[in-house]
Amino acid sequence: MGKKPKLGQNFLVDDRARHAIADALGDVSDRTVVEIGPGHGAITSILAGRCRRLIALELDTALVQELTARFQPQPSVQIVSGDVLQVDLPALLQPGETCDVIGNLPYYITSDILLKLFANSQHIRRAVVMMQREVADRVAATPGVREYGILSATAQLHASVSNLFTLPPGAFSPPPEVYSTVLRLEFAPRFAALQVDPAGFDRLLKQSFAQKRKTLQNNLRAAGYDAAGLAACWPAGIPAQARAESLTLEQMATLYRALPPHSQLSR
Ligand code: SAM
Repeated sequence: MGKKPKLGQNFLVDDRARHAIADALGDVSDRTVVEIGPGHGAITSILAGRCRRLIALELDTALVQELTARFQPQPSVQIVSGDVLQVDLPALLQPGETCDVIGNLPYYITSDILLKLFANSQHIRRAVVMMQREVADRVAATPGVREYGILSATAQLHASVSNLFTLPPGAFSPPPEVYSTVLRLEFAPRFAALQVDPAGFDRLLKQSFAQKRKTLQNNLRAAGYDAAGLAACWPAGIPAQARAESLTLEQMATLYRALPPHSQLSR
């Protein structure tokens, strides 16, 4: 087993793949694109001449220096030194502007990055992101399959997800120990269509998926709902023994609307 590179630095060296990833963003000629983890610029170098404005966020200061020397002469490119998880994304954009996001993500923080993108979904039109294949399978999974969980539900609440293609370890240097999958996320939050409020529904999802081995009712009881109260309002279409992993977002929303006000019952 090879040593894991620092900061998830497996650089893309497959020329066709880096073009396919950049192309998956579509026409970006009038768009601001935010790149997460540009590294040595495999994808940056394609997009720099293609989009209206490119903001590339890199944590490694040696890479920031290299990228700045190479790309900063282009006025449309801004290299930002920092941690993608700390950066204030809307502050990088014009008021009211939405961006597109691209990145061969550092795999050690993939879920946190995705959650950050979902938390900013009103500022994002589309994202093309590469991650470990197993994580991509979870993001794209449908209810009832083994991989479906809180990451799938949250992703699909905020975006429609397409699985574009998978790359072998040899597409990278150094090669990772895993295969990598590119997903495209078209951001279109579904809160209004599902008739739920974002904060309350988000909290219900977290409570419902808290423990995978428990039924949904047992997870909700652990979160502070009482058994009799749950039985009294439980929607007819949802089996009492159901696990959250088996329910569609529409069913979760039906449950959310049937439950008594959350503020009174959640701990
Ligand atoms: N885009 C390049 C490519 O495809 O070859 C590099 C991809 S590499 C998998 C991940 C990149 O993310 C590295 O350049 C790494 O330094 C950077 N990175 C790691 N953690 C980061 C963080 N918290 N914020 C911003 N960039 C980070």
